[in-house]
Amino acid sequence: MKIAIIAHDGKKAEMVQFLNTHKDLLLAQNVDLVSTGTTGKKAIKAGFKVNALKSGPLGGDAQIAAMVAENEINMVLFFRDPLAKHPHEPDIFMLMRLCDVYDVPLATNPATASLLIKGTKFEK
Ligand code: PGA
Repeated sequence: MKIAIIAHDGKKAEMVQFLNTHKDLLLAQNVDLVSTGTTGKKAIKAGFKVNALKSGPLGGDAQIAAMVAENEINMVLFFRDPLAKHPHEPDIFMLMRLCDVYDVPLATNPATASLLIKGTKFEK
């Protein structure tokens, strides 16, 4: 089970909080985390093992989108900040579009992410 985590700057604290809240599930189960650069650094600092790719504005979202297109990602948790402007908006939309193209579960806020995580059977 490979889960992609991405959080915009205004949502990074919420992502770390989310990871800590679901630590038991995420650490105990057979879960690989992949992330955009800065989100990954925060998660690693919080004690998680994460494959951190490029920072979002430098192509990290596009890298994750490509992994979605290659069927390498099972779930995307993408805490977007709807109150901020993003230079890499085309990449953000590409990622969300490809999640829909490939029917990959995508949560764009913590409440939905929580439901997704709880509703997922993490098989070994
Ligand atoms: P970041 O990228 O984790 O490198 O900040 C997230 C984003 O802005 O898409």
